[in-house]
Amino acid sequence: MICDRCSAQVYLIEKCNYCERSLCLSCIKSAKRQKKIRRIVICKDCWGKLPIRTKFKREK
Ligand SMILES: [Zn+2]
Ligand SMILES: [Zn+2]
Repeated sequence: MICDRCSAQVYLIEKCNYCERSLCLSCIKSAKRQKKIRRIVICKDCWGKLPIRTKFKREK
């Protein structure tokens, strides 16, 4: 699979919950579980945008 952000070919891809791109692990800044079901993933680009980062931090 190809990462949408850095174009690296990797085996494991995760989707950023904010920009909806499929990303490799090195492009993911942080991730957490919501209510033990949903996984919230934020990429490095979205982490750089303060409103999105704040939103991520508020997710429980
Ligand atoms: Zn990547
Ligand atoms: Zn993103």
